[in-house]
Amino acid sequence: MISTKLKKNDNVVVLSGADKGRRGKILFIDMKKGRVVVEGVNKKKKFVRPSQENPKGGIISLEYPINISKVMVFCDKCKKGVRVGVQLKDDNKIRVCRKCGKSFDK
Ligand SMILES: [Zn+2]
Repeated sequence: MISTKLKKNDNVVVLSGADKGRRGKILFIDMKKGRVVVEGVNKKKKFVRPSQENPKGGIISLEYPINISKVMVFCDKCKKGVRVGVQLKDDNKIRVCRKCGKSFDK
């Protein structure tokens, strides 16, 4: 089990590997394995059998999980991946950019 400040739907940037520099939304976080699935990142082709959603079956491309340490939250203001800090605002914990203080939570 790992601890992370990342959340589903966060906009992240990939730090290393074939998709380095690519940005996307977090679709899924696997806390147990410390992995994330990011929209458009680490796509691989997969053969699927015909099903109701996909009556023809065939080859689809699907995002595969990558290690969570390979991504950072992307800050629109800093224009890069940044570390996330936590601030208390009106008794709520909000996540902010450690560089510029921009909030990542509404
Ligand atoms: Zn920032």
